[in-house]
Amino acid sequence: MEPLVAEAINENWSEYNLPCKCEQCKNDVFALTLNNLPPRYVSKENGVAYVRAQYFNKQMMANIYVKIAEAVNIVAKNPQCNNLKRG
Ligand SMILES: [Zn+2]
Repeated sequence: MEPLVAEAINENWSEYNLPCKCEQCKNDVFALTLNNLPPRYVSKENGVAYVRAQYFNKQMMANIYVKIAEAVNIVAKNPQCNNLKRG
């Protein structure tokens, strides 16, 4: 099963308007996106959150992109990573 959220983020990562694009910021966007998706879309088996393939459809993919955009905005306004915390 593909980790669709991670794949969607990776595909567009270079285009997101973020002050920092390190791995931690990417992980923050990923975690926030998953938190904001309905639980039935997400499986936490094996400790990894995957979107269940049986729920995958165009409407859901659109929802995922909306949630990713929201997560990007949150991380951009309030970055948690050390690169942006000094000073
Ligand atoms: Zn960062």
